[in-house]
Amino acid sequence: MADDCLFCRIVRKEIPAKLVLENEHVMAFRDINPQAPVHVLVIPREHVASLNEATDSEMIGRLTLAAAEIAKREGVAESGYRTVINTNRDAGQTVFHLHLHLLGGRDMRWPPG
Ligand code: AMP
Ligand code: ZN
Repeated sequence: MADDCLFCRIVRKEIPAKLVLENEHVMAFRDINPQAPVHVLVIPREHVASLNEATDSEMIGRLTLAAAEIAKREGVAESGYRTVINTNRDAGQTVFHLHLHLLGGRDMRWPPG
């Protein structure tokens, strides 16, 4: 846990979030600035700054499978969705607590901007 980390504060419930999933390892909540009709962030409860610092393959697997589960619940599994982990400057990472974006509910372009 990092005292001043925004997402650690959401894990500790010091900051409100619209939770969509919570278990022993993972939390998921709606992005405050959604870029698609479904835009959920899936995070590990433990503080990991970015994918560069991740070492726990089970944790990465849990984030990914949680996203797939939420996509089903949100009704976008069949129509399609995108999962994204932004890492560092060139990808535009702004919050340095590892998070996986789940985006769905609209047509998306490739390559991303
Ligand atoms: P990234 O640019 O990949 O680091 O993504 C950070 C995401 O966190 C952005 O999409 C923000 O809109 C989102 N965000 C920032 N603060 C909050 C918050 N308090 N609750 C929910 N989402 C947030
Ligand atoms: Zn954190």
